[in-house]
Amino acid sequence: MPSKRDYYDVLGVSKDASADEVKKAYRRLALKHHPDKNKEQPKEAEEKFKDLSEAYEVLADPDKRTRYDQYGHSGVESTFRGGGFDWSDFTHFEDISDIFGRSSGFGFGGSIFEQFFGGRPRSGPQEGRSLRYDIEVSLLDAASGAEKELRIPHSVQCKSCGGQGAKAKDIKTCTTCSGAGQVRQGQTRGNTSFVSIAACPTCRGSGRQIIKPCATCSGAGATETTSTIKVSIPQGTEDGMRLRVRGGGDASREGGGPGDLFIVIHIAPHELFERDGRNLYVDAPISFSEAALGAKIQVPTLDGSALVTIPPGTQTDTVFRLKGKGMPDLRGHGNGDEFVRVQVITPTKLNAEQKEMLRGFSESVGQYGKTGARKMRFSGFRKKA
Ligand SMILES: [Zn+2]
Ligand SMILES: [Zn+2]
Repeated sequence: MPSKRDYYDVLGVSKDASADEVKKAYRRLALKHHPDKNKEQPKEAEEKFKDLSEAYEVLADPDKRTRYDQYGHSGVESTFRGGGFDWSDFTHFEDISDIFGRSSGFGFGGSIFEQFFGGRPRSGPQEGRSLRYDIEVSLLDAASGAEKELRIPHSVQCKSCGGQGAKAKDIKTCTTCSGAGQVRQGQTRGNTSFVSIAACPTCRGSGRQIIKPCATCSGAGATETTSTIKVSIPQGTEDGMRLRVRGGGDASREGGGPGDLFIVIHIAPHELFERDGRNLYVDAPISFSEAALGAKIQVPTLDGSALVTIPPGTQTDTVFRLKGKGMPDLRGHGNGDEFVRVQVITPTKLNAEQKEMLRGFSESVGQYGKTGARKMRFSGFRKKA
């Protein structure tokens, strides 16, 4: 994750800027990055605007600003409901409502901004956070398919309060907004007066207030747990493949459904096989005499071993194909092939008798003349396959 920019830098103010200076800077930049003025690059404008609003959300609030000054970004993350800033965390729509004009209106949860920038207006409470979990499986598991049991730490809806954060008797309707979740504010600017609608500052749009938080979850509505999840690794799984477990993520903190769990599969390197898509590659060492005289050798395959016939006079780096002995195809299109590359190994430990025989062999093929110098034709350096 890229490191987050300093909130003071984002707004272009100094660390000791007054509340008024912070507000002025935010309004000036909000105007500059107004979506109506950035129609060519709406995505960038949205991002920029969101960054500005996140910085303002923190620096405009004395309590959050103090925590940010002391602990940096980690000091304020917990104040954002999803762990990161989202429009639903923004509580200062009033400060820029005139910039966006009365026709915009400001709905609960910042949905107006999503509409503004072409996003989908949120309906209902937000889902819980999605999680990612990385696992490593062997090449053989990827070839044959496998069942894995994973232990996933995540949060689940609190059983004591049903995710409400408090027992029913300890929740009352918000007195500020009478449960509507929004407040209407009359404003006069010059000769114009208008009404803007903003998320209720008391209940942050939920329409309710908790009198006594649930003892089990301290009002969070969710508790931490570790779930055992069974996943099937399909035959032919490729490195980096993602499996989605619907509802396997964190519980929602707004009474919505849980997020999803994404399992990212990594395939461990195999000591013999190299994989390229559906094909497998393996190096097979053979002796000089096997290469010269021919031989049958046993080579490892995914399901055991196979016999490969080495014809007499085989050169090093010659590749043999074992049809259908590669990886299975994920979509059932049949197996790939296994390619066996032979490597002729020069003997290093010869006894006196073997050396004598090799000398005899050497003389019989006439590689050396009377001077003992080698008589051979040279060619260019051959590239290895
Ligand atoms: Zn609870
Ligand atoms: Zn309220």
